[in-house]
Amino acid sequence: MTRLLMAGGRLIDPASGRDERADLLIERGRIAAIGGSGTLGRADRTIDCRGRLVVPGFIDLHVHLREPPFFTESDSARQVGRPTPHTPENGSPSQEGGARQAARPAAQAPDLPETIASGAAAAVAGGFTTICAMPNTRPPVDSAEAVGYYVARAREANLARVLPVGCMTQGRAGREPANLAAMRRAGAVAFSDDGSDVADAAVFEQVLREAARLGVPALCHCEDAALAAGGVINDGPLASALGLPGLAPEAEEVAVERACDLAARTGCRVHICHVSTEGAVDVLRRAKSAGVPVTAEAAPHHLALTEEALARRDTVFKVSPPLRSGHDVDALLRAVCDRTIDCLATDHAPHAAAEKAKRLAEAPPGMIGLESALPVYLATLVEPYLLAWPQLVARLTINPARVLGIEGGTLSIGAPADVAVIDPEARWTIDPNAFRSAARNCPFAGWDVRGRVMMTLVGGNIVFQYL
Ligand SMILES: [Zn+2]
Repeated sequence: MTRLLMAGGRLIDPASGRDERADLLIERGRIAAIGGSGTLGRADRTIDCRGRLVVPGFIDLHVHLREPPFFTESDSARQVGRPTPHTPENGSPSQEGGARQAARPAAQAPDLPETIASGAAAAVAGGFTTICAMPNTRPPVDSAEAVGYYVARAREANLARVLPVGCMTQGRAGREPANLAAMRRAGAVAFSDDGSDVADAAVFEQVLREAARLGVPALCHCEDAALAAGGVINDGPLASALGLPGLAPEAEEVAVERACDLAARTGCRVHICHVSTEGAVDVLRRAKSAGVPVTAEAAPHHLALTEEALARRDTVFKVSPPLRSGHDVDALLRAVCDRTIDCLATDHAPHAAAEKAKRLAEAPPGMIGLESALPVYLATLVEPYLLAWPQLVARLTINPARVLGIEGGTLSIGAPADVAVIDPEARWTIDPNAFRSAARNCPFAGWDVRGRVMMTLVGGNIVFQYL
């Protein structure tokens, strides 16, 4: 029986209100004891955590992995085919990090899709011990078989806990509800048609009623399709200057309003994904004060960047919803502070370099975020004194755990030993070529940042260690 002692770190556990220097003992994959220095007895292994923060592993409600394809595009019947074989270079996480890819010019390297394994490796490198995998793959994860595939592949990767999210509607087409009960039985923790909204309000309501019956949250991508149609970047002076169709902020505001109304009507726990506008924040604030069962998340790029980043048409800054105005960013920061926005989620969206090399209007939206999230949150929230460390940790751990209704997100006795060890002072430069992710579309490349994940444990096992 292995006893692992994390000694001398600053333990921050918002769920139990703990913030103190203490030792943490892990036994049988769970938190076994917490006590003053040297009080917990002998351990088989001791990890020196002096000068480090010891926090619950982060939980990300919003991650895109690019697996399957386990159906072929022409497969009209929903048959599970053979999974794509995984060659050593297309997915298994490299212990040495991503340096192997840095050496290869993009032109020679076929772009590799983010697999469940490479995404899980990126997650633990960023301090995330649980990630929710969104179902807008091609084809989408809308069946018990597809959900089961995720559960099996995640177990094989044996890194972060990868929790599958099932589609709300069949084929993510918005016309018929998917079989939510079957997906739930197969292991889906939430439902979402992320990537787009469910335009048909009657179908949406049916989905939410069923999710409520199953006790599972709905993760809602709020965007009115008609209002958003054709938009490429945020609607405003920059879009006009670049001659690009704008995406009106109202498309989000209107859709959040509708989702909140349906949450109130159905009793479904509705979670609003990637809030990006001041208008949506206002709607959320009103809904929450009226007691509607709604929660929300913001992504690092929406807190740290404005639409101005797109002035040179660099597609790495194209994302959905788009980067917004400074006004919107300020409103989001306030909302994260006053808990109108409960959770921080990366919306990690890997894309191949060849895809992102297209023109701004044609390139797919999305940015990777798992391995840069922590220092970006620190730079935007903690260093400007908007949040203290425990408040930041709450938004990355216990708050998302509560949205999902899962155990975890805490260091309390008996909880799974999912832990991140952070050096809060480490200075480094964000270099996507060193990432575990298979993708490189990181908008924070070259940023000089502070704060680094040094070690990550899942179920008491060390699954990541920096140097
Ligand atoms: Zn989305």
